[in-house]
Amino acid sequence: MSPLGVFGGTFDPIHFGHLRTAFELMQSLELGEVRFVPAGDPPHRGMPACDPMRRLELVRAATADQAGFLVDDRELRRSGPSYTVTTLEELRAEMPARPICLLVGMDAFLGLPTWHRWRDLLELSHLVVAHRPGWPAPAGGVLAGLLAERGADDAAALRTECAGRILVQPVTPLEISSTALRELLASGRDPRYLLPDPVREIVRVTACYARTTER
Ligand code: ATP
Repeated sequence: MSPLGVFGGTFDPIHFGHLRTAFELMQSLELGEVRFVPAGDPPHRGMPACDPMRRLELVRAATADQAGFLVDDRELRRSGPSYTVTTLEELRAEMPARPICLLVGMDAFLGLPTWHRWRDLLELSHLVVAHRPGWPAPAGGVLAGLLAERGADDAAALRTECAGRILVQPVTPLEISSTALRELLASGRDPRYLLPDPVREIVRVTACYARTTER
């Protein structure tokens, strides 16, 4: 059974750093699908600049033309903080025997020990860590230890078990962030070539990031 990719994020807004990373991981790991899971109330940060339904609309617009990209709005329908572990528990209950790969960038991986019930994540899914410019892999500490213990050499290891391995995967380095995009949009500049045109058009028409500041 091909693994399921789960790609969570605030996506405030979604950009080519997210999309290209998800696409390359889908191809290199031969994932059957990648589910984009926008967070409603991300526990590790302030409120997103843009409201949840608009962020969802942007993710839908960004992913609509790519086979295998699906949008899962369960964290927006749930009340309370958007805990990834809860999402993985639900998905695991829906598909008990399918390998699940939680896709994260290196910056997110480095913050993993602050996540709610973080040690349970690897009971529920594999972890695939994409390189991200400016974020070197951990050289020591609990995450380096975890990598030594659970690290997988290649994607094949993600198919033989349903959960529990960590694969660090190079992707084309794209130094794009939602933070930089929000600043760019707030100053009235054009985000062209940083995010898909349908997203750019919605952002333009709705002015959802105009005069934005962190909420
Ligand atoms: P912000 O600047 O608001 O923190 P962001 O650009 O980091 O946002 P998120 O929605 O927080 O985007 O990220 C969702 C996931 O995508 C995280 O796992 C993050 O590491 C990963 N990611 C985001 N941008 C990139 C990128 N340019 N390259 C690789 N991974 C990325």
